[in-house]
Amino acid sequence: MSELAKFEYAPAPESRAVVDIRSSYGLFIGGEFVESAGGGSFKTVNPATEEVLADITAGTTEDVDRAVRAARTAYQGVWGRLSGAVRGKYLFRIARILQERAREFSVLETIDNGKPIKESRDVDIPLAAAHFFYHAGWADKLEHAGLTGGGGATPRPLGVVGQIIPWNFPMLMLAWKIAPALACGNTVVLKPAETTPLTALLFAEVCQQADLPPGVVNIITGAGATGQALTEHPDVDKLAFTGSTEVGKAIARTISGTRKKATLELGGKAANIVFDDAPIEQAVEGIVNGIFFNQGHVCCAGSRLLVQESVHDEVVAKLKRRLTTVRVGDPLDKNTDLGAINSAAQLRQIRELSAVGEAEGAVRWSPPCDLPGQGFWFPPTVFTNVAQSHRIAQEEVFGPVLSVLTFRTPQEAVAKANNTPYGLSAGVWTDKGSRILWMADQLRAGVVWANTFNKFDPTSPFGGYKESGYGREGGRHGLEAYVTTGAGR
Ligand code: NAD
Repeated sequence: MSELAKFEYAPAPESRAVVDIRSSYGLFIGGEFVESAGGGSFKTVNPATEEVLADITAGTTEDVDRAVRAARTAYQGVWGRLSGAVRGKYLFRIARILQERAREFSVLETIDNGKPIKESRDVDIPLAAAHFFYHAGWADKLEHAGLTGGGGATPRPLGVVGQIIPWNFPMLMLAWKIAPALACGNTVVLKPAETTPLTALLFAEVCQQADLPPGVVNIITGAGATGQALTEHPDVDKLAFTGSTEVGKAIARTISGTRKKATLELGGKAANIVFDDAPIEQAVEGIVNGIFFNQGHVCCAGSRLLVQESVHDEVVAKLKRRLTTVRVGDPLDKNTDLGAINSAAQLRQIRELSAVGEAEGAVRWSPPCDLPGQGFWFPPTVFTNVAQSHRIAQEEVFGPVLSVLTFRTPQEAVAKANNTPYGLSAGVWTDKGSRILWMADQLRAGVVWANTFNKFDPTSPFGGYKESGYGREGGRHGLEAYVTTGAGR
């Protein structure tokens, strides 16, 4: 059969009645929603329709100061003194509420971000809850986590943590940040991304519902200037940042010479490497998942496909055939595979870099697909004939755009995979276990997946080499970023 049988799917939209979006939101400081001290506001929109969802407060330097003071008070008065067992109970409670309200969070995430409901429902929100469950378990066992380098000192919290997150996995990144910080006894001020603040604001309600002591979690909305005020605040003990390499470098410059600690989770340009002995059909699924999951708005996306030359034509033909079945459209439809691009600015960047790819001589291909007239959309796109020097092989497109390159030997695959300023993740597809181990050893990437891609688990540390940042999040290693063995404050 040369053509796949074409199935027509009846629309299966998830109801948005489960969410209650307010027309405007204040800041969450000291356990309650408050007005800004003179800040303006901005709008968050549904990227699939451009519908304005709500007015969001742009936090000022003064607001950030209020939030840091609330976090300091909560740290000194309550949270820093609680036993790990009690902190764990709060985290378990938050985790259970997230599970109970999972549908509400999933729908809200999809409306504000543009990602398909099947991803927010099956990946983002369950994993966010899992991070709270996992870290709840650690809260009373920190002295057994091997965090003190054998010195025997009890690990202590750092104090007040400033956390800044991006828009691609709003709720999941919040969980990656808040769960370990709280488990270790710190209090936090978190700033969500300006295009996706709504689930963080709903999480503030969860903190209230869980009776979390006021000031333990503070949510400050705003854009880069608000994040910068948090970075520069003198009473923040540690910064945890996920976002672009450019902003990560600026943060590192700002805090150099201060006593602030930092973890930076930045960009990536992962190689997904397919050898000729790989199970090709399975690899094709992994390639699709690697670059088209979450519209390719994934720091560890497999955006550079490295295929062994002998199977290049077969892999590309099967990949193209598979991509004709990808359903692009309404993110709330349970059938949708590829949702909306998160913002007009991100769509512009994807279009610009794709145009550069064509101009530099790569061959561009997309399956036929009808994109909605309203909203921000980009079709799944594959570039073949890509050279290592092309910008689409070097720079993060952060969209549903795959660059295909070839190699002949494992050594060449390693050299090409490592030929990037980044080092966040990589994938290896082969039948040989020994080759997987050899490749994993050679690849300069924080995570190496073998015969799979984009698998995440709270027990597994995640983080990068080189310009992908420093520090690890998740697992036992992730706890290290939130404790000291010194006297504390
Ligand atoms: P971004 O760096 O523009 O923004 C990230 C966050 O930083 C936002 O909340 C933003 O408001 C804030 N910010 C902007 N300027 C700031 C400043 N000067 N000081 C302090 N905060 C500031 O990145 P983005 O466009 O939101 O996210 C996409 C990027 O994030 C991609 O490069 C992607 O690879 C990276 N990312 C990395 C990981 C990881 O774990 N390594 C995960 C997700 C995304």
